[in-house]
Amino acid sequence: MLRVENLTSAYGRIQALKGVSLEVRRGEIVCLVGGNGAGKTTLLRAISGVQPVTGGTVRLDDDDITFVPPHERVARGIAQVPEGRQVFGALSIADNLRLGAYLRKDDGIVADMERVYAMFPVLKERRATPGGALSGGQQQMLAIGRALMSRPRLLLLDEPSMGLAPIMVDQIFAAIESLKQDGVTVFLVEQNAAAALAIADRGYVIETGRIAFEGQAADLLADDRVREAYLGL
Ligand code: ATP
Repeated sequence: MLRVENLTSAYGRIQALKGVSLEVRRGEIVCLVGGNGAGKTTLLRAISGVQPVTGGTVRLDDDDITFVPPHERVARGIAQVPEGRQVFGALSIADNLRLGAYLRKDDGIVADMERVYAMFPVLKERRATPGGALSGGQQQMLAIGRALMSRPRLLLLDEPSMGLAPIMVDQIFAAIESLKQDGVTVFLVEQNAAAALAIADRGYVIETGRIAFEGQAADLLADDRVREAYLGL
């Protein structure tokens, strides 16, 4: 579904991506793990089209979308849950969700809001509450729900576990795993390698702008190099 080939990107003289290649197949959960500053956010933003690239290609279903603008990528079925959630603090939960559907013209929006509320019941209970009044975990739920409102085929998630208590991480990751049944393909970027690899089918490890290892998630979880560097074992 998604194929990234030899992608490079820079901030001035800092090469953040030094030729990254990876693929996400339809129906998979694929994770990208790596430490601080490894290039995870840069890669995700290049896939959603908000980070300029200096070389390489991004393909979606065999179409070259490397230079397609971000809103058109949303229309083609890519949605991103950004780092730090970025919910609209002054707007209600319901309005945050409606904004996620801003490119849609169909009449399924209300039904999709109900689907988000079924996934995260606390959002329904508090639907009139401003986004800014929610806890970090609830804001993450809202950010995921808002992205789902564009009816994505491919959901990109940037560090959904960041700053959350372990019990909340479990809830969020269970929700991400459940998206598989709805036919949503997931590309998940995480520093929390243990949580990400536990729900992923396959994984990639990025180190200073390059893919260092890749494989089945279970194999990466068992790999000594990954265990030592990313699982603290
Ligand atoms: P984190 O987990 O801290 O978000 P990351 O793996 O997502 O890390 P990136 O944010 O993609 O890493 O950063 C990759 C590299 O690019 C780092 O060396 C970082 O310092 C640099 N970088 C990121 N954003 C900028 C920026 N706006 N200007 C200059 N350099 C940047």
